[in-house]
Amino acid sequence: MVLLVDDQAMIGEAVRRELLGEQGIDFHYCSDPTQAIAVAEQLRPTVILQDLVMPGVDGLTLLGEYRARPALRDVPIIVLSTKEDATVKSSAFAAGANDYLVKLPDTIELVARIRYHSRSYMALQQRDEAYRALRESQQQLLETNMVLQRLMNSDGLTGLSNRRHFDEYLEMEWRRATREQTPLSLLMIDVDFFKSFNDQFGHVAGDDALRRVAAALRGSCGRSTDLAARYGGEEFAMVLPSTSAGGARLLAEKVRRAVTELGIPHDKPEPGSVLTASLGVATLVPRVGQAPLQLVSLADQGLYMAKQAGRNQVGL
Ligand code: GH3
Ligand code: MG
Ligand code: MG
Ligand code: MG
Repeated sequence: MVLLVDDQAMIGEAVRRELLGEQGIDFHYCSDPTQAIAVAEQLRPTVILQDLVMPGVDGLTLLGEYRARPALRDVPIIVLSTKEDATVKSSAFAAGANDYLVKLPDTIELVARIRYHSRSYMALQQRDEAYRALRESQQQLLETNMVLQRLMNSDGLTGLSNRRHFDEYLEMEWRRATREQTPLSLLMIDVDFFKSFNDQFGHVAGDDALRRVAAALRGSCGRSTDLAARYGGEEFAMVLPSTSAGGARLLAEKVRRAVTELGIPHDKPEPGSVLTASLGVATLVPRVGQAPLQLVSLADQGLYMAKQAGRNQVGL
């Protein structure tokens, strides 16, 4: 589609005859330059033929206005003017014109230039579209990756980090703590009398209780670097980077209380009890030659002490 903007109807008619007649080029004529922008935005021409001298509107200013519109920024504009001097031509190019023809040019030349500009404009549009599609698919890939990452790292029942992610995170924080010589703490958490809970209330209720315990753990994480994970079965773990033994003990106590405050009824250790958990705490400033497994073993020992001492408590 070619749009001609020219105040002289005679020119409009002549160009229409030339373009539509033999060449079959889709053509629209706009005689009112004040409407040029609106018409162009609506018709989206692939080439604009633009007069320079028109009543009430300065052709050069109009060129700038096309360029200011995002939809028309790249549309090729061929100036059609009676003015032949180089200064005017130069100003037209400076204002945004792509080409300049003295009117009325031979049809054969006008058509050749229209075809040339139309072709490069459409190629440009196609390239833009391809870039857009590429960017979009890259974005989609990125989002898919994030979803996959989340799925890979989380436990299906509770939504906490799974064992795989726990191992990875502990390893990473262990290395950081070794490098920076900062304390790294670990909590191991085991739900008390959970086998009998399942036996008593069924596995569906058991699963639900695990989900609620997991939520209590998540809610107890004080820092964005604290990581709560399902270690396996009814056992959970929390990695606490840059946390001293004292800080870890306080958090363990907070977690213990949060689990009892869920108020999940249980008939162990006696009728009328609520579901509780036992915890083990360990803290190390890692030395070279030690491994994260030692931290896990220490926390396990603490957990064992807590179970031995009667459960629902924190063992050191
Ligand atoms: P303790 O106080 O000594 O920890 O006793 P316990 O009964 O909690 O310990 P035990 O290791 O004997 O039993 C753990 C139970 O946790 C056994 C298993 O049926 C239950 N369990 C483990 N994973 C799940 C789960 O995903 N869903 C449900 N509902 N139960 C689970
Ligand atoms: Mg004119
Ligand atoms: Mg257990
Ligand atoms: Mg247990």
